[in-house]
Amino acid sequence: MAEIIILGAGLTGLSAAYHLEQLGKQDYQIFERDSTIGGLCRTVQQDGFTFDYTGHLLHLNNPYFQDLIYNLLAPENFNTITRRAYIYSQNTYTKYPYQVNLFGLPAETITACIQGYLERPKLKNTKNFYQWAHKNFGAGITKYFLAPYQNKIFAYDIRKVSDSWTGRFVPQTSLSAMINGAISDQPEITQQIGYNANFIYPKSGGIFSWVEQLGQRIKQPIQTNHSAKTIDLKNKIITFTNGRTEKFKTLISTIPLDYLLKNLVEPSHSNLKILAPKLICNSVTNFNLGVNRPDLSNKHWVYFPEPEYKFYRLGFPHNFTNEAAPANCSSLYGEFSHVKKSPAYVQASLKTSLKQVKQLLNISEHEILTEKIIDIKHAYVIYNQWRDHNLPKILQTLADQKLYSCGRYGAWKYSSMQEAILDGKAVAENIIYADSR
Ligand SMILES: Cc1cc2nc3c(=O)[nH]c(=O)nc-3n(C[C@H](O)[C@H](O)[C@H](O)COP(=O)(O)OP(=O)(O)OC[C@H]3O[C@@H](n4cnc5c(N)ncnc54)[C@H](O)[C@@H]3O)c2cc1C
Repeated sequence: MAEIIILGAGLTGLSAAYHLEQLGKQDYQIFERDSTIGGLCRTVQQDGFTFDYTGHLLHLNNPYFQDLIYNLLAPENFNTITRRAYIYSQNTYTKYPYQVNLFGLPAETITACIQGYLERPKLKNTKNFYQWAHKNFGAGITKYFLAPYQNKIFAYDIRKVSDSWTGRFVPQTSLSAMINGAISDQPEITQQIGYNANFIYPKSGGIFSWVEQLGQRIKQPIQTNHSAKTIDLKNKIITFTNGRTEKFKTLISTIPLDYLLKNLVEPSHSNLKILAPKLICNSVTNFNLGVNRPDLSNKHWVYFPEPEYKFYRLGFPHNFTNEAAPANCSSLYGEFSHVKKSPAYVQASLKTSLKQVKQLLNISEHEILTEKIIDIKHAYVIYNQWRDHNLPKILQTLADQKLYSCGRYGAWKYSSMQEAILDGKAVAENIIYADSR
């Protein structure tokens, strides 16, 4: 028996293990369901192309995270890139963010966006994302971009989604910025708005290259092919699907919270298990193509708000690093979301997406050198009112029993690679410092 068990060797679990060791703690074990580490931050090499589990770009705004990344992989191993992101709507490519780049759209759309901004309702509180968008951006921007895009990426009615996640993800605007961006095409460099205006990306090996380094710094063996089946909270025993059992005093769980709750063996007074179905998230199907053409696109990524396109985003990894594709080739990733849909629906959506991409970018069948489809079962957590009210209590009830559920899906939230690393660090420190008190 180890004193501490970590479930999941995605970024949060790896970070927890790394930081426990940094704090001098070796008495722990880490288990991972899959045969490889990295969770969502993995990379597939196929036919000379490098595909991540959909677009993963590093946004560094925390000094500790920046130091750690550059310690794992020296700065010269990364490209530092200024975003070239676009929106495709009304048959036009406009720069991202939409609200400050209306140039090129039909005059009536620009008028509706500016007028809507001027007349935006002065709401004190907003009940959902739809109201929040009206309050902050007005009816035009909500109608033409924010509402259709967020409906599509969440695959969920945004009137049932709260606004508690918006913080750093939706860049604010001003009237002067809107007017400037409506009357002329703004150069990329003046559009440094939002959390993702700049990013870094590994020159080779895809996003997994720095995660692999993190894995190698961890001394304890990472026990892959161990999928936790039940977690007995009363007797503090985990049973894995391969029949192995492990006792623990403290559990760091980075596996999805809905799965954890569903598979809890609880003390009789506890009622957490029945809450599992209340936690809602969407799934994303990620399709990747290797294309035998050098200049498929000069953009980094493009958002597609309109419902006639099945996918909500396309990206071009060969523009993150020229090692993502062989010489004179390009690579592409696309994503569409779904909630509780049948395999037949997903297959049909994939077929439509691929057909639409080929039409839009004029890609012929003989140009496609390779194709990789990746299913991401837990992708975007849905922030509904139920989650906002009940999640803190659920996490606290678990923590009171020394089960720390953390990370993107452990804490059931919308967060980045940076936050996953910081979450793992925080849970390790909390456990060690609580023990020493
Ligand atoms: C579509 C999409 C795009 C994204 N793009 C970006 C981006 O551009 N930049 C950015 O910073 N972040 C991005 N992120 C977020 C980033 O991927 C996550 O914040 C981070 O990878 C979460 O790490 P984690 O360890 O918390 O979760 P995970 O990576 O999900 O790790 C959990 C681990 O637990 C394992 N596991 C699950 N069940 C069990 C079980 N029963 N037993 C044992 N192990 C189990 C899983 O196999 C997995 O390895 C994106 C996320 C998504 C969904």
